Amino acid sequence: MAGNTSEKLQQLRQILAEVTDLNRAAMLLEWDQETYMPAGGVQGRADQLSTLLRLSHVRFISDEVGRLLESLEDEVAGLAFESDEASIVRVTRRDYDQACKLPPDLVAEIARAGSVARPVWEKARHDENFTLFAPYLEKNVELNRRIADALGYKDKPYDALIDRSEPGMTTAELAAIFAELKQAIVPLVADIARHSEAVDDSVLYRGFDPDLQLSYALDVVKRLGYDLVRGRQDISTHPFSTGFGPGDVRITTRVSRDFFNECLFGSIHESGHAMYNQGMSTEIDRTPLWDGASPGVHESQSRLWENVVGRSLPFWRHFYPSLQAVFPEPLRGVDVTAFYRAVNKSQPSFIRVEADEVTYNMHVLLRFELENELLEGTLKVKDVPEAWNTRFKSYLGLDVPNDREGALQDIHWSFVSFGIFPGYTIGNLISAQLMEKIRADMPDLDAQIEQGQFATLLSWLRKYVHRHGRKFTPNELLERVTGKPLTAAPWIAYVQKKFGALYGLQAAHRS
Ligand code: ZN
Repeated sequence: MAGNTSEKLQQLRQILAEVTDLNRAAMLLEWDQETYMPAGGVQGRADQLSTLLRLSHVRFISDEVGRLLESLEDEVAGLAFESDEASIVRVTRRDYDQACKLPPDLVAEIARAGSVARPVWEKARHDENFTLFAPYLEKNVELNRRIADALGYKDKPYDALIDRSEPGMTTAELAAIFAELKQAIVPLVADIARHSEAVDDSVLYRGFDPDLQLSYALDVVKRLGYDLVRGRQDISTHPFSTGFGPGDVRITTRVSRDFFNECLFGSIHESGHAMYNQGMSTEIDRTPLWDGASPGVHESQSRLWENVVGRSLPFWRHFYPSLQAVFPEPLRGVDVTAFYRAVNKSQPSFIRVEADEVTYNMHVLLRFELENELLEGTLKVKDVPEAWNTRFKSYLGLDVPNDREGALQDIHWSFVSFGIFPGYTIGNLISAQLMEKIRADMPDLDAQIEQGQFATLLSWLRKYVHRHGRKFTPNELLERVTGKPLTAAPWIAYVQKKFGALYGLQAAHRS
């Protein structure tokens, strides 16, 4: 068996390597588009990307891959579940079936609908005119239904879309988690709003030299463990991280003179993503395993570094003296505790991407509910703004002034991709669930952070999360590491404790 298996597996790995190379070349073109490409390059770049992605898709869904998978499935049946060989076959099968289930004309229609809707969404958002965008959203709802039908589902159409981005998760499981979050967070948000004067964040707006911010942020992420021999940082409008393989994982950031948080916390966030990719085993490089377990698990790594570590008091006890040395003017008269409090200010706001740790998941809950109802047909597209505004008031206590700051704010609904938003909340929850286990394994974590030592924490993440790549589904990974599937309890306990202390809230309000 061994000789045969390795020969067939080598054939499969050869094809997967070519597919990966084509995809990575496309990603590099996208990186270039977001960082250095002149505006005139847009049309040519769209052509190049579509050619590369078509070639990679055709190579991947070939009959040859189907035949190899079939014979390899028998042959790896006796191998351990977590072995590289069995995992490559298992995960490639999952991707292959999904890719083959979507008919080519549907795939083409999805691409077309996305590129047509995008400029209309931009105009509608600019003009605060939802009616303009409504027919395109209707089309996208229909296409999402067709994707769900093509992929198949047991219970709800949303299951098919969730499973596509967060393998193994169901709508019912997420609905239960969101219900738990809503029950705990809506009263916490209201309580914080009543004590909003307890935290003053005006220091963050005092003006910080952009070049100094960039070099300081790069120094911080280097100290956290982001390897710059295998990475680099550039500027883009929307920060992101992208990996072209173990030796080249890049981040981008943005910087604002008038608001401190953007550059440093953005850089920490993206380096959290990048350290995940840098930690993946080289043995699984150029296979479908070399990637995050899911967008949600990927987001857990960025949030863990950005929020749980980067917005902690021990972190600032270590870094604040050097920050003050770089920015003596804006930080004059502000001590470390005041600064720690400032970077943690919580306040309901309209825009999801600007939301703080506490309120963020309520923005996601709202979208999760509306996407579900649109798919089920219980909510009509024309009624989306009203449904949005009513729920926003009830979850975050604010009256949405217009659709630009309401139902039209996200780019996501302009291309066909329902089922993406929950990943952001899943990431927040996983970061807290992992941290609970990390603290049990490393009781002196806070002391290490205060001394600027992050190597043990990073090694822990590499060992239990990073090196596996996509070997495990999110829940398989969590059960292996923490003994439980995804649960909201650690995150709820974390924000209740942290923000209860920051805002001086009564424990009774927080139960
Ligand atoms: Zn992220």
